[in-house]
Amino acid sequence: MGTKKKGGKKDKPSQKERPKSKKKHTHVQVWKLYDAKGDKLVRKRDHCPRCGLGTFIAVYKNRKYCGKCHWSQISKE
Ligand SMILES: [Zn+2]
Repeated sequence: MGTKKKGGKKDKPSQKERPKSKKKHTHVQVWKLYDAKGDKLVRKRDHCPRCGLGTFIAVYKNRKYCGKCHWSQISKE
């Protein structure tokens, strides 16, 4: 069990004490999502059913997620 201080407060570091992550948000490298086959470009990712063409959805092991409209679909396998 976690240690408790006087007053029954949880031993959790405050927002200032917590270390900030140094990783900055990077732009999505869209060119990586296309595959050039001859003269045609093949999309490696599906587009979002809500946002339509022009958006890519992130594909994880068991789910798909659109970062734009927060649409997500869990695939059962
Ligand atoms: Zn979307």
